[in-house]
Amino acid sequence: MASSKVAGVSVSTDHFIDGKRVESKNKFQVCSPIDGKHLADVSAGSSDEIDAAVAAARRAYPKWASLGPEGRHPILKRFAQSILDHGKEIAAVETEDNGSLLIGNATRMVPRAALNIQFFADRALKLNDETIDSPEVVNHIRFDPAGVAALITPWNGPFMLTTWKVGPCLAAGDTAVVKPPEWAPLTCSLMADLATEAGIAPGVLNIVQGIGEEAGAALAAHPDIDRLSFTGSTDTAKLIGASTAHSLTPTSFELGGKSPFIICADADLDAAAQTAAGQYFNAGQVCLAGTRLLVDAKVADEFQSKLRAAVSQMVVGDPREKTTRVGPLITPEHYKRVEGFVERAFKEGVKPIWGGHRHSAGELYFEPTLLGGVSQQQEIVQREVFGPVLTWQTFRDEDEVMKLANGTDYGLAAVIFSKNEERAMRLARQVVAGTVWVNCFFVRELAAPFGGSRNSGIGREGGNWSFDFYCDIKNIAAMKGSFA
Ligand code: NAD
Repeated sequence: MASSKVAGVSVSTDHFIDGKRVESKNKFQVCSPIDGKHLADVSAGSSDEIDAAVAAARRAYPKWASLGPEGRHPILKRFAQSILDHGKEIAAVETEDNGSLLIGNATRMVPRAALNIQFFADRALKLNDETIDSPEVVNHIRFDPAGVAALITPWNGPFMLTTWKVGPCLAAGDTAVVKPPEWAPLTCSLMADLATEAGIAPGVLNIVQGIGEEAGAALAAHPDIDRLSFTGSTDTAKLIGASTAHSLTPTSFELGGKSPFIICADADLDAAAQTAAGQYFNAGQVCLAGTRLLVDAKVADEFQSKLRAAVSQMVVGDPREKTTRVGPLITPEHYKRVEGFVERAFKEGVKPIWGGHRHSAGELYFEPTLLGGVSQQQEIVQREVFGPVLTWQTFRDEDEVMKLANGTDYGLAAVIFSKNEERAMRLARQVVAGTVWVNCFFVRELAAPFGGSRNSGIGREGGNWSFDFYCDIKNIAAMKGSFA
């Protein structure tokens, strides 16, 4: 068994297949974005390990499915509890691995991860209660387990985002093969230990580490998976969709965004400025971030000075420090990508209102940046940067702001600040987005639907929408009066 010590925690660098640790000869290197420190050499899976993991999940499936929601509930409850019990370690390893804020991981992401497991285990208990009465028959609606699910997750919140899939998947009675992100694979490895501690049987949850183009592609193309749930970039989704189209495997996509953040003239500008500054948290590596500021021209100057004041208070630096709000970008490659967007925008005549360059905190730290003088068709407005880079546009009326807000190929989220409820709700109804936050941001209710429109995704998860995906839904229409 191979392992590494990360943030004082021993983390296995092997795969987890059929309840056992499995090492590959090939490894990939993981370094911390905080300071470039080498953290681990992790097993790089190939189609062999993917085949073994899918076969293990297939073998474990009948027994796990037959437990029913009631039989699975106590096991998943223990799993949720073991996440909470090991919360400090998970948060510390996550921060070391992907550079996200330690305080955010400890106080929000880890508790949310435990809730993802607990919520869907609880919800599954009520799944098969529904009947629909019709004149001749009673329709009994059943959510039956679907089989083996492939779960592919991104690096910007790997532990929490993996539980967002593992929770409903296992609660539904499916078994899983997870392919964690190669840029931040370590906390998913911890998840395997916690599953074992909770008594989840071998083969129910398998984890194959590896590079997307190799292990991920092998999993997506595997002929024996029944579901594929992917969170990541729109470009990768197109490759995965081409694979699952061949096997007609139902596929769920949670993808990138370029979400509008609308500030109306009647908004609470102080609250809007604080929330807008928050879009820089985790160096803007947040899919839901409202990265396009659309400000009513009447309050543009006033709002900009409030935002400037809020941003100037934000500490850029080591994400392990409590006061830090903007940490590093994940890898040198991603840093170059972010910088490339900004440099190309500058060449097109876009001007920095602030920021635009490397921050003195270190190699991978980019200044919180606001770009003005942009036009709607420019790359910097149209494409997801996934860094601490916001654009600034003003509007004169509702028609204009809706054209700007809806003028990209994305539709993940939107933020609207207005004190006029009628106006806020009118705009919220018109904007193309899976989630619209009015006078708030990042508030998530697990019973509510979550997902993206347009190129931001296919399908919705959360509440019973998750079970719509992970289950085979059946209607048993039983003729009334036909039973002895
Ligand atoms: P990515 O698409 O590069 O990688 C995501 C996962 O896919 C990784 O595990 C990777 O190894 C794997 N992968 C890569 N190529 C593959 C292939 N050919 N076949 C199968 N798997 C492959 O995305 P990323 O850079 O890890 O994550 C950032 C992106 O994720 C951003 O676009 C962000 O907006 C999006 N995201 C969306 C949500 C959401 O809920 N909508 C949440 C978080 C992140």
